[in-house]
Amino acid sequence: MKDLMTGADIGTTVNFRTVGPYEARHPWPTETVVSAGGGRVFIRNAKPGSPTSYGTLFMEVYPPGAAFIRGEGSTVEECENAAWGKYQLALNCTDGRSVHDWEPREYKNGAGFCTRCKTFGADVFTGAQLGQFCDVCGEGTTYDWDMSSDKTTIFHCKKHFVQTRNDTTSNQNFLETILNGMLGDDDNDDRDDLASDKNSTEASTTPAEGDKNDE
Ligand SMILES: [Zn+2]
Ligand SMILES: [Zn+2]
Repeated sequence: MKDLMTGADIGTTVNFRTVGPYEARHPWPTETVVSAGGGRVFIRNAKPGSPTSYGTLFMEVYPPGAAFIRGEGSTVEECENAAWGKYQLALNCTDGRSVHDWEPREYKNGAGFCTRCKTFGADVFTGAQLGQFCDVCGEGTTYDWDMSSDKTTIFHCKKHFVQTRNDTTSNQNFLETILNGMLGDDDNDDRDDLASDKNSTEASTTPAEGDKNDE
């Protein structure tokens, strides 16, 4: 396996940071990129009376045949087992051919989720496939979008993107996509909320966990 931050070949020894090194038990392909540790996951739209955050260990892997998988648990073994289970689901879903049944949900950055195995994929849709075309040159784009005053969404390609805000909407949504995906099946109930409020992040996490989500 390879360490996400350093790219170094770590064999089967996963560094869980606060917990220390852990020998992975499942036969992950050697090209699997991994990041692991502990963190707190904040649930922005928590139902009244239920907790707004929880602490967890996590193991995040980018194995061949699946773009991003996160396993959580109270022990490192649980994390690996959860991630491995999702990975097997993803592999069986595509029958080894790497074809998932992608749906973009409400996301505009080209990412999608498989309707069958729920795996997350970055860059599985082009701008043209999503019907998003640059306001200037007409090229399909997933690079940038913004709401105009009359509530229509304006898209820009990388070349015609002009930084007018302090935040970066694209990356914000990318993070949101990942976080949404890692919540698994439970997020179905909340999807309407998320769609109606673009800036509401359903869950957020520590910067240490989220800072690798740059495109
Ligand atoms: Zn799938
Ligand atoms: Zn353009």
